Amino acid sequence: MSPAFENKPVLDEGPDDRSDLGERPCPLCGHPMFEHHIDESTPNVLLECPTDERLPERVASGPLNEFGMPASGRRLEKYERRTGQAEA
Ligand SMILES: [Zn+2]
Repeated sequence: MSPAFENKPVLDEGPDDRSDLGERPCPLCGHPMFEHHIDESTPNVLLECPTDERLPERVASGPLNEFGMPASGRRLEKYERRTGQAEA
C-alpha cells in the first residue's frame, strides 16, 4: 500500500488541470508544449513548433482540446459519448 498522493501517476488530466499542459508532448513534433510559441494574435491560434521534425500523423480527425491537441481522458470520453450515437 502506498499513499495515493505521493506517487501520483501521470494521467491524462481533465481540462481543469492546466499545471502540466506545458509538459505535454506536441501532437505534431513531439516536443513539450512549453517549447512552442503560441501566436494568439489571430482568430486561428497558431502553434509554432521549435523543430521542423514532425511525428507521423496519427489522428487525422478527432476531438481536440483548447490547445488544438488531441483530446484525452475525460474530454475524449465526453466526445465519444456525444458522437458515439451519431457515428454508430
Ligand atoms: Zn510541435
